[in-house]
Amino acid sequence: MGIVNARNPGETEFHQAVKEVAESVSPVMEKRPQLARARILERMIEPERTVMFRVPWVDDKGEVQVNRGFRVEFNSAIGPYKGGLRFHPSVYLGIIKFLGFEQVFKNALTTMPIGGGKGGSDFNPKGKSDVEVMQFCQSFMNELFRHIGPDTDVPAGDIGVGAREIGYLFGQYKKLTNTFTGVLTGKGLEYGGSLVRTQATGYGLVYYVTRMLDDRGKDWNGLRVVVSGSGNVAIYATQKAQQLGAKVIALSDSNGYIVDEKGINLETVRRIKEVERGRICQYVDAHPHAEFRERWQDIWTVPCDVALPSATQNEIDEASAKVLVNNGVIAVGEGANMPSTPEAINVLQDAGVSFAPAKAANAGGVATSALEMCQNSMRLNWTFEEVDTRLKRIMSSIYDQCIAAAQEYGMGGNLVAGANIAGFLKVAEAMIAQGVV
Ligand code: NDP
Repeated sequence: MGIVNARNPGETEFHQAVKEVAESVSPVMEKRPQLARARILERMIEPERTVMFRVPWVDDKGEVQVNRGFRVEFNSAIGPYKGGLRFHPSVYLGIIKFLGFEQVFKNALTTMPIGGGKGGSDFNPKGKSDVEVMQFCQSFMNELFRHIGPDTDVPAGDIGVGAREIGYLFGQYKKLTNTFTGVLTGKGLEYGGSLVRTQATGYGLVYYVTRMLDDRGKDWNGLRVVVSGSGNVAIYATQKAQQLGAKVIALSDSNGYIVDEKGINLETVRRIKEVERGRICQYVDAHPHAEFRERWQDIWTVPCDVALPSATQNEIDEASAKVLVNNGVIAVGEGANMPSTPEAINVLQDAGVSFAPAKAANAGGVATSALEMCQNSMRLNWTFEEVDTRLKRIMSSIYDQCIAAAQEYGMGGNLVAGANIAGFLKVAEAMIAQGVV
């Protein structure tokens, strides 16, 4: 960690992500000294390539704006770099590196042949017109296109990057390269997208937590569920949990959270968020019995059986974890990337709460992106049922890998350790086989 902190000053989220993996894999390094001799961990924490670039564009008033773009190509030992693009004002190198680092292990767990990368910009799409978003995406791609390709690096969406942004990015890539390839995933169904990709992260999260609940002799029926966020992951986690009989009672965005004790009406949420690009507080206009409360961080004070943090990093801290435990939570499934602080994870695990770590539980999105790549290569489209069946199988396999790895290294039931170890070993073996490159 001394090396990591000194070489990557100020990148606190990256330090946090590395520390968790390093701690989890230390029993593996002890058991297999050849990994330490090959400096596998030291190599893994250094991205293979980092690209940072200027993104100039012209807003609706005719004024020139300048943002910063990033693509961190972290590890290609098991396949082309794969990982989303995040457009959010908080984006800086440390966030992209933490996300890229996590992505390496997550992608290894999916059983698909994909390496890890991540990118994005400090551009804020909120409040921008469609034309401004298009201008930005085209300028972003004017640089990014030379670094990516269907066999090199295949970006997708993340916070602030949905179907609209992927469409503009794809259009510009196609124009610049004069090729029609599966260079991005999360594409529209009309031009190479895959059924289920939109739902995949949220659905996959619920499939993973289903296995975890099953091990406690429980199912979703009648459980009270709190989901944070109200974006892509949150909406489809809510939908699947509801389909399986759960009662989802709260959702949030960065302005606050809503509580609907009768159960969230997802059609209203989808209209507000997906069609109108509005705010979650508007929910109470359509459902006056529901309540809107400010301070999104306080959503964890709503008593629940299952918590699915699906907004952003470090949204459950130690204090929130204690409140969840005191209110009787039995399972926490991370839909967002690194939404729980290390202290929060300790509190939850010590209290016997089943805890599903992000790099396993939210891997359904990237796994389905890999299925989109398969379909693009074959120039075929699979049915919804076919992709959904594969997704379910993949999430189940990820769960089995986590359980088995934790068991093998004496940390039975610890899915955080299991996910880190299983992902790490797959990438490590591939790196050793390929020599020092
Ligand atoms: P969206 O942009 O669709 O939605 C994000 C949601 O989280 C919004 O409701 C947003 O509120 C809220 N949010 C974002 N940042 C903050 C913040 N700093 N504080 C409070 N609320 C915030 O993103 P996704 O649903 O795609 O992504 C959510 C999480 O899931 C991220 O951590 C992402 O990395 C992770 N993830 C996403 C995958 C995918 O396939 N989309 C795959 C795997 C992981 P507001 O609108 O007010 O900003």
